[in-house]
Amino acid sequence: MTPINFSNVAAAAQALQGIARRTPVLTSRQADEASGARLYFKCENFQRAGAFKFRGAYNALSRFDAGQRRHGAVAFSSGNHAQAVALAAKMLGMPAVIVMPDDAAPAKLAATQEYGAEIVRYDRYAEDRTAIAQRLVSERGATLVPPFDHPDVIAGQGTVAKELFEETGPLDYLFVCVGGGGLLAGCAISAAELSPGCKVIGVEPEAGNDAQQSLRSGAIVRIPVPQTIADGAQTPAVGEFTFPIMQRLVSDIVTVSDDQLRAQMRFFAERMKVVVEPTGCLAAAAVMNRVVDVRGLRVGVVVSGGNVDIARLGG
Ligand SMILES: *Cc1c(COP(=O)(O)O)cnc(C)c1O
Repeated sequence: MTPINFSNVAAAAQALQGIARRTPVLTSRQADEASGARLYFKCENFQRAGAFKFRGAYNALSRFDAGQRRHGAVAFSSGNHAQAVALAAKMLGMPAVIVMPDDAAPAKLAATQEYGAEIVRYDRYAEDRTAIAQRLVSERGATLVPPFDHPDVIAGQGTVAKELFEETGPLDYLFVCVGGGGLLAGCAISAAELSPGCKVIGVEPEAGNDAQQSLRSGAIVRIPVPQTIADGAQTPAVGEFTFPIMQRLVSDIVTVSDDQLRAQMRFFAERMKVVVEPTGCLAAAAVMNRVVDVRGLRVGVVVSGGNVDIARLGG
């Protein structure tokens, strides 16, 4: 298995220079009071296409060789990875096919289409998206870009924490949400290099704590697709690449409830004037609810994305 280390993250940062947004690090006196710590929010809700996924997608596509560029990229996703691959392909001038379910949010379908990607739709209850994507790979020679379990994707996501530490200096803790673990693994690699001694904590929805079970048991645990409003973390298992990195560099994984996520979304909107999607609230909710005691410490909190369905936010 290809080892991934900080030099890969540094190379990804080079590839993303002037391409990905260097997102702001926000602070909030009210958030500090609630948590008892000094919090630094790295706000990837302001990233291109609304989430950190653009970093990994662009880094992976930018490393395609000439043949791969000609035949383009394939991705399957109903969420932020689809839009990230579509946008990255457009910027790099290559074709992209995105396999999306029939019942994907209309806003997400529209955004993916606007980026110029071809969309292949499927019935998520009757068809297997992996098989459809594999068919596109073999018929067209296109390259599959997985949402988290790929070294170039992990290295791209690691630039989030690299930028954070460059701005804040060393921190005591870093909290990162976990779906398949691409963001967490990448950020843990940056933390180990730029802030040795910083404890890295993953945060999952209570209803889908497969990563927590995996880390605690020492083997990848697979669960049924969890029911949670954190749709970016509805992954049944972490990855073959991401898990060993988590085992080596992540101190623990904790969980928060959907109610805590709703309260956190409201806090971000009302108090900090930022729109954060439910999955993007995971890390912040853990800290603000004092799931880990971080009183008096300097704590980084990754805010992973801001793609909320406004119709739902109003409710
Ligand atoms: C994909 C996604 C996640 C989870 O990322 P992984 O790399 O799969 O762990 C978290 N938040 C948002 C907004 C996402 O789009």
